[in-house]
Amino acid sequence: VPGRLRHWRPIDCRTAASGATPLHTAALRRQLGAVRQLLHAGADANLRRGDTGETVLHLAARVGDVRIARLLVGGTGGADPTARDFRGDAAWQAAQRRGHVTLASELREVTGEIDALAATDPERPLLSDSDLSVSLHRNLLAAGFHQLTACLHAATVDATEAICRARLTRLCHRGDDENNFEELRMRFSGTFADCWGAQLACANGEFEADDVEVKLVLPVPGRVLHVRGVCRCGSGRALLPGATGEQLELREDGRLSYRGDCLDELSPSKSVGSVQAKIPAISHSPVLECCRHPPVSLLQNSETKLTDDVISQLKEELSSSRCYAERCRDATPSSLFQFCTQFLKQRLLRCLSTVQGQVFVLLKYIIGRLLTRLVDGLPDNLAKLLLFQMLHSTPSGEWRPENVLKLTRQSLRTLQNRLLASSDGTAALIPDIFCPTVHVRLEPNHSDRQQIFDAIEAVRQDLTNQLEQYCSEPLRPAFMPDLQLCQEFDAQSPDSTNLVQEYHQLYDLVRQLLVNLATPGNSCSLAQHLKLINDLPACARTTAASLRVLTHLREGDRAAAVQAIRSHKFRSHSGIKYPQWRSDDLASNQARANRLVEQYLVTSDCAWKFCFKFSQHQQIRLEFLPPSLQANFPLELDRSSGVFFMNFDCLLKCLQFELISGAGGDVSWFTELLKPSESPDAQQVLMALLYCPAANIVNRIVEENQQMVLNSAALREEKAKAMKRL
Ligand SMILES: [Zn+2]
Repeated sequence: VPGRLRHWRPIDCRTAASGATPLHTAALRRQLGAVRQLLHAGADANLRRGDTGETVLHLAARVGDVRIARLLVGGTGGADPTARDFRGDAAWQAAQRRGHVTLASELREVTGEIDALAATDPERPLLSDSDLSVSLHRNLLAAGFHQLTACLHAATVDATEAICRARLTRLCHRGDDENNFEELRMRFSGTFADCWGAQLACANGEFEADDVEVKLVLPVPGRVLHVRGVCRCGSGRALLPGATGEQLELREDGRLSYRGDCLDELSPSKSVGSVQAKIPAISHSPVLECCRHPPVSLLQNSETKLTDDVISQLKEELSSSRCYAERCRDATPSSLFQFCTQFLKQRLLRCLSTVQGQVFVLLKYIIGRLLTRLVDGLPDNLAKLLLFQMLHSTPSGEWRPENVLKLTRQSLRTLQNRLLASSDGTAALIPDIFCPTVHVRLEPNHSDRQQIFDAIEAVRQDLTNQLEQYCSEPLRPAFMPDLQLCQEFDAQSPDSTNLVQEYHQLYDLVRQLLVNLATPGNSCSLAQHLKLINDLPACARTTAASLRVLTHLREGDRAAAVQAIRSHKFRSHSGIKYPQWRSDDLASNQARANRLVEQYLVTSDCAWKFCFKFSQHQQIRLEFLPPSLQANFPLELDRSSGVFFMNFDCLLKCLQFELISGAGGDVSWFTELLKPSESPDAQQVLMALLYCPAANIVNRIVEENQQMVLNSAALREEKAKAMKRL
């Protein structure tokens, strides 16, 4: 902290969303050391937050931190204990409201209001469960946790999956006859494919990029296994004798044991193993294809509370998708497999109503953020499986907004019961709803069961306090379905003969054009190069314009570059618009979402952010650009990683400022970066530092992207220059 404080000028800078100062944030996070240092460095202890009117003492009282509260009202703190927030509460009342009784009476004494109190209104009661549920529900809705956005997200996942599949298919069959191979049967799983966003990281609804996980499920090509007892490939019910040398056998515990050899292929293959994306993280799990799905008893179970609609969706998934088996994690012997049920789970998540989805989001927050702080060994997918148990056992009429909190509590109660019921040392916790003999287990390093039980109990008792902040603070939109070609693949030579390049070839083509520009005297003639640019499809309009301007600049033709910029119509790139449909019909919503995304991909100018991978020796430097642009377009993401980021829209705007005088008058491009839904990238922040004419806007952009600026030498340098310039 001390090192960073020097960069914080002024020390009481505020966030745009809530008007909180660093001191507010430190108190809310109970960071005593940071509070002390900020006070020491001259932070004002009596500033109020813009949204709630709370002072730092209110916040310390709210989280019940006695030590911070004492520091604030003590000798050097200087906080006024009688200050009132927008509710009209003094700090002691804020403490009382949250049940921090001792702190409340301590503060009340300091406040000297004991006598005055008798005359005021009696305490307002804490929010009731159903009131809290309804406002939670509303706030989550405003942040995008709605069935319609989940539909849109699902459509985006499917489109990205199709593009990725087409690319991987080319990659794996490089050199083969392109007309003569089957498309790779790769699919996505993981949080990205689950369609309900990542878990909430903090009260404003933002999530951390690391939480968004994409898993590629890749079947080993050309091998189909038969499961004894499930297979019907033969004329009768038995496996056709001699049909294959390898097979799986279904065991009583629901797992599969493998008979045969050649399991080596299950380690990631070379070409596929090299597919690693920077954003978001992609991991790869190999699977074996089986000839037939095992029966799923849930779909025949008349006891289940899943609706007929959902059951028929699941049946449809079962009949249309292939069956895979994956190796059991941490199991011995290593020839043990289990059926993959993740696509059924994915389908079930796509059927969630808005309230069900919101309970899922809350469970992810409670388990992933609150409980993992207290105990170890909770499995990753616990929230999902817990929700499925609830869907299975809760009548559909119960899923109402006013029950959000009650249902969340019930889920935690279910988890507690499971903890007690399964104390037989197997670490089994919750059965897989689609394969009840297989249980999700506690991780090997897990805390004592009683300890986990107690932690859940504590969170369950305190749930109102834990979640109330989600009602009182505005949540940021947590869904931003948007497609970016951020795929870090090995380069392939683009097929330049097609007039309109397919979407999945964009990456190779744009990368090739960039290499041409950065390599003096390369073999590609100017005419060929310009033809490639003209071949770019409509979705890369801005990227093409940007490349065209770069080409003219490299040729030394400034007039043509200016002309190319002038003829480009800048439009704001707002991504896919949130739908305003009212219908509750999931199937028709999904169909509309799919059409919307398809149309967006084909017609919108949406492919203008790229991540490129270059080999160590390739020098990608556009030496004909001004020095500050040269150093940051493209921008290496981590030093020596060889992964370069490029925002062609931002580059084109920068070039306009460089080449056309008077272009700097319009500040709308810069104010756009301050919208709550935006998180600008480093090149956009750089653009503001280089060209924004308004000091207050630059300050706010720097303030909101403090961490990014601190972490980047280039941005720190340009920030210093900007401060001088302004
Ligand atoms: Zn079979």
